[in-house]
Amino acid sequence: MKLSLKIIIALILGSIVGLIFNLFFPQPFDTVNAYVFTPLGKLFLNLINMIVVPIVFFSIVLGTAGLGDPKKLGRIGIKTISYFLITTAIAIAIGISLALVTKPGSVGDFNTSQAQFEPKEAPPVSETLLNIIPKNPVQAFAEGNMLQIITFSIFVGFALSMLREKTAGLFKLIEQGNEVMMYLVTVIMRFAPYGAFGLIASAVGSQGTDAIRSMGMYMSVVLFSLIIHMLFTYGSSLYLFAKRNPFSFFKQFAPAMGVAFSTSSSNATLPISMNVAQTKLGVPKHISSFVQPLGATINMDGTAIMQGVATIFIAQAYGIDLTISQLATVVLTAVLASIGTAGVPGVGLVMLAMVLNSVNLPVEGIALIIGIDRLLDMARTAVNITGDAACAVIVAETEKKYAGVGTKAS
Ligand code: ASP
Repeated sequence: MKLSLKIIIALILGSIVGLIFNLFFPQPFDTVNAYVFTPLGKLFLNLINMIVVPIVFFSIVLGTAGLGDPKKLGRIGIKTISYFLITTAIAIAIGISLALVTKPGSVGDFNTSQAQFEPKEAPPVSETLLNIIPKNPVQAFAEGNMLQIITFSIFVGFALSMLREKTAGLFKLIEQGNEVMMYLVTVIMRFAPYGAFGLIASAVGSQGTDAIRSMGMYMSVVLFSLIIHMLFTYGSSLYLFAKRNPFSFFKQFAPAMGVAFSTSSSNATLPISMNVAQTKLGVPKHISSFVQPLGATINMDGTAIMQGVATIFIAQAYGIDLTISQLATVVLTAVLASIGTAGVPGVGLVMLAMVLNSVNLPVEGIALIIGIDRLLDMARTAVNITGDAACAVIVAETEKKYAGVGTKAS
């Protein structure tokens, strides 16, 4: 059976099992969760997290060295960042517009006086951007600081491309390191259906159904906006700029989306999404290795959608009207917040505090949506990594005219 089908079956089975426990056996759930679901999920997560840092390093070094020409790096960099920023702004606009029309915060009675939320200290985006050059690369590797690892790897790759013959040995070594990691991805993916089952059963089983019921409208608006963004923004850009059939793109990318859905982490999904992009979507290695790690770190369209809808929802629940200029501020800060959001579970909600602060909305409002955020995190992470892959496909296609060769080449 195909892996993508196995993952989909695992997601469905996991949701059904989690739901049955949630509704009928809440007591035994804790034990089964502690001894079966959580360990299954954790094992899988650890396996993929184990290879994220080496994969990012090896592949970006090779990708940058493979570009050879700094002009090409600059061109690909500009295309990539422009796609990321424009699609993120569109994502927020979709989320805000739908929330303004459907008014999820005005239907239902939300107890705002009881809402309590202590925002965790989120690093200011300016600081994150200034710190992209690591003072100590070893520390960056040890802490898994993606932006810093990416920067260091680009520098090393650039040096390798300049020194060529002199560093041919090191280049070969890194190439072989990359082969090893990519092989490990295929091995680890065999465990993906079991891991996905454990993660989903655990997440669904531990959700309060009351919270889901009372937040149904908010959830639907977020989910609907995510779907519209996928179909409209990614679909049309793939069709227009890469002449790709969006549906076959989604179908081929489905295994990576399934893993993102179950892990809620763009970083953890990175090895798989790069593998799928290179082997199934025909994105050349040097482009995938550059675009996708960067995207997993700074491009979060799904997160931006949640932040747009959540901001309007909280404003409505507190009975506050936002002016047009405040809405523009929300778009701007949500773009920055999604750049600053790390690709790990739940950080999007932490960064939401920054968006709310920018228009003086009560940060305690986050307490209203926190209960169902785990479920929405799954869906938005799948969108986050799909945006990175769509960008990789489009950059690859538009680069063809410079190379004059097919995209299948590495
Ligand atoms: N979980 C998301 C991701 O890893 C980030 C977030 O929205 O919390 O892409």
